[in-house]
Amino acid sequence: MLSEKQNDLLKQLPKVDLLIMGLPETFQKHMRTKTIVQDVIDELRQSILDNQHVNVSLKDVSEEIIRRLNLSDSPNLKRVVNATGIVLHTNLGRSVLSKSIMHHLTETMTHYNTLEFDLETGSRGSRYNHIENVLCRLTSAESAVVVNNNAAAVMLILNTLAKDKEVVISRGELVEIGGSFRIPQVMAASQSKMVEVGTTNKTHLSDYEQAIHSETAMVLKVHTSNYKVLGFTESVSREELAKLAHKKDIVFYEDLGSGILFDFDALIDLDEPIISKTLEQGCDLVSFSGDKLLGASQAGIILGKKHLIDQIKKNQLLRAFRIDKLSLAVLESTLLLYEKNGDEIPTRAMMALSETAILEKVNAFTNLYKHQLERLRLTYEIIPMSSEVGGGALPLKTMPAFGLAIKFPNGINKIQTRLRQYEVPIIASIKEDAILFNFRTIFEEDYALIIRALEQAIL
Ligand SMILES: *Cc1c(COP(=O)(O)O)cnc(C)c1O
Repeated sequence: MLSEKQNDLLKQLPKVDLLIMGLPETFQKHMRTKTIVQDVIDELRQSILDNQHVNVSLKDVSEEIIRRLNLSDSPNLKRVVNATGIVLHTNLGRSVLSKSIMHHLTETMTHYNTLEFDLETGSRGSRYNHIENVLCRLTSAESAVVVNNNAAAVMLILNTLAKDKEVVISRGELVEIGGSFRIPQVMAASQSKMVEVGTTNKTHLSDYEQAIHSETAMVLKVHTSNYKVLGFTESVSREELAKLAHKKDIVFYEDLGSGILFDFDALIDLDEPIISKTLEQGCDLVSFSGDKLLGASQAGIILGKKHLIDQIKKNQLLRAFRIDKLSLAVLESTLLLYEKNGDEIPTRAMMALSETAILEKVNAFTNLYKHQLERLRLTYEIIPMSSEVGGGALPLKTMPAFGLAIKFPNGINKIQTRLRQYEVPIIASIKEDAILFNFRTIFEEDYALIIRALEQAIL
């Protein structure tokens, strides 16, 4: 039996039509309005039946509906503050793009553009032309082509040059990257036949030599981006592999994973190969990701000998793996930025930050927000931290950094969750009773947000 009060409240529930008519005009036409209004009413009705306290005033119910409509309009994919210090955080979108390329991006994407149009001849052009010159300038490669991502690049190269043929690879390089990219499976999918040589820790030139015969199309080297075999190890140098492959008249290809364009400032002891050097050392083809250390869009970049790239360009799979105009525009602009002012590329700039520069950032933050931090009664410490490069790159290489450890003796997990659920989520890790803010990956424009998020998390 319902009480009199419950019956009254049920009667007072605003009518759906009335609610919709009272909404701002933009929401009256919104596809989701009816469902959201219905949901809110249903929830209120249930609360009344459960004898909970409810507010059924037209104004408050309308406000709740508008709040939900606004929320449903905001994209699920949104910016976050990366306080982890991991520069290429795959779960947080890998490389951060430069603001300075955004004007060009808006211009080209909100208008028609020359994606596949040749302005000289007035006829069909190739999307790959936009990028080939700048890639060749930066790396001294003969030729270049780009696809969707590096996984696609590996697949396309193997399928073009080694379909139904054998590919020799060291057992020490049968990598798995990020759970879904495994060299043996990629090879099988490309219809090439994997011939493993050597052992996990040692592979000699003679191992390769003995495995090459008339059915062999390629020697494949894979950069062990995310692990390292320590102890007694031996692998064959690029020069030696190149010499062997060329003597046997087969292709020498290296999947570089990430690679770097230049040995910038040698700030960290990079274990990543410099792309132009790998070509000098004799690779016929190399491939790498656009959104790892290069700091551009998701893409797979293939560089090397022209006669090989020409064959790749004729493979039907290229169409399936083709790069879209957005990624292409970002990639071209970022590469041009390398020539003009590489410091403007955020991934590169974050990698290049010295320990002292990061400490200065932390100090600037604590000075700027001294009063707020005091008002919130936060106990914090400026501490040395280390940051990873991430993105499946350089696992053992960490860079010294600095950051804030803010102490929360009680309910630290709740605070972390609240920071994560803030309107601009703050992604930070926990160590003992402190939340860590690593300033290598925190931008100046994030500072105010962090303070506001902390305020909300503590309340
Ligand atoms: C990251 C990586 C890949 C995959 O590259 P995506 O661009 O993420 O597809 C392939 N090979 C190696 C060695 C890598 O490090």
